[in-house]
Amino acid sequence: MSVTVSRPDRLVPMGSALIRDIPPDQLPKVVMPQCEVRPVLKGQKALVTGASSGIGRGIAAALCAAGADVMINYVGNDAAAKEAAEEATHCGCAHRGRAIVHRADVSDEAQVLEMFARIGDEFGTIDILVNNAGLQQDARVEDMTLAQWNRVIGVNLTGQFLCAREAVREFKRRGVRKEVSCAAGKILCISSVHEVIPWAGHINYAASKGGVMLMMKSIAQEVAPWRIRVNSICPGAIRTPINRAAWETPEAYAELMKLIPYKRIGEVEDIARTAVWLASDEADYIHGASLFVDGGMTLYPGFEAGG
Ligand code: NAD
Repeated sequence: MSVTVSRPDRLVPMGSALIRDIPPDQLPKVVMPQCEVRPVLKGQKALVTGASSGIGRGIAAALCAAGADVMINYVGNDAAAKEAAEEATHCGCAHRGRAIVHRADVSDEAQVLEMFARIGDEFGTIDILVNNAGLQQDARVEDMTLAQWNRVIGVNLTGQFLCAREAVREFKRRGVRKEVSCAAGKILCISSVHEVIPWAGHINYAASKGGVMLMMKSIAQEVAPWRIRVNSICPGAIRTPINRAAWETPEAYAELMKLIPYKRIGEVEDIARTAVWLASDEADYIHGASLFVDGGMTLYPGFEAGG
């Protein structure tokens, strides 16, 4: 009787080589989505924090294009905020909403209260809060100052709490207007894959996003009976100023692709489309969820070659 012994090189059949053995130019070319903008947020009032650049700017434009009136919060650059408002309101959609700008530091309680008072004056109420403002101040743990720790926690976590608290107060006061939305209000927290992926050299940032995860879920549990929906979007690597070093050169981009099974960087529009859908009644039964929009970055890509 003959015995067949499997050799490791025979375990992989022809035509199903592992991804590490396939040169990138033999993979399918990237095709970007072309999606129709529909007025799913008509009549709604929104606040997007940190919206003069990057993801926030893209979300503000997409909410406006979907019919919402949007307050663009920013902290520093007046001209950039004005440009973001112009971009949002010149999208070419007949049903677009209007955009106003408001300067406020989301980590400062008095400024947040003032911002919500202004949104009440300008729009009458608020239906959608997008907690997007965020920053990084990176250092090794032994070199990180208390100021760096406090600033990142202050903006990324406390800032989201302050804005969420004010939004919940208004949502509860006003309740559901069924001609506008099934929900009394929607909060979208912009978190990160780093709410679950540890990140050496960025402990303040990872701690802030881990905090956002349980803050979001705890608020969601608390306010659900008032028909207030609370969810997070967790972006992977999105092409914005915050992570320029990771995509700016071909070498950096090739390194980044090792972390992304879908083999393309995320674009602001990937997050903006998700935000519109998650804020709309099409996502009415989604509550307390962390929605990863990351091209598979959280799929442990280091294991794609078998570990
Ligand atoms: P970005 O730097 O372009 O945007 C951040 C914005 O927040 C800026 O406009 C900044 O001025 C604003 N901001 C900072 N401090 C503020 C404060 N105190 N008050 C109000 N606004 C303030 O970078 P981005 O990539 O667009 O980041 C947006 C959000 O997305 C952040 O929360 C970030 O952590 C998150 N995120 C980004 C990525 C990515 O790959 N780009 C990945 C995961 C998560």
